Amino acid sequence: MRLVLDTSALFSMRDLPLDAEIYTTPGVISELERYGDSRARYWEHALRTSDPVSDSLRMIKKAAEKTGDISRLSQTDLEVLALAKDLGATILTDDYSIQNLARYLGIEYKAVGLVGIKRLVKWKLRCTGCGRTWEERHPECPVCGSPLRTSRSRK
Ligand SMILES: [Zn+2]
Repeated sequence: MRLVLDTSALFSMRDLPLDAEIYTTPGVISELERYGDSRARYWEHALRTSDPVSDSLRMIKKAAEKTGDISRLSQTDLEVLALAKDLGATILTDDYSIQNLARYLGIEYKAVGLVGIKRLVKWKLRCTGCGRTWEERHPECPVCGSPLRTSRSRK
């Protein structure tokens, strides 16, 4: 199986599936790094990173404008979709807009919980300034503006 993983997928997994060729884009890796996620470095060897070809990216963008998903998709999201198209791969994502556009384009996708990855882990973001924790991703702490770091939830 060939998979393309987006940021939401990587964010909610502790381990990568071993029985698949796993791809992602350089943009996803830098998003993980921006969240101080040390797993990005750890996974570097298991993840194949590749940029989509620009024709596919243009085509994906056009389709996103048509479906209206464009306003909810980042450049990185569009690249993930385009790469999956290039590789004939299945997208692993929990992002609803990516799923929606994938369905529209006939690109296969799966939510993280549906691929038999049992050891799901809840990651939280802890603020390095005020110490508050956040369930959702933010570029920085919404309260004090300090950088956030990932930490495992104890739940
Ligand atoms: Zn804070």
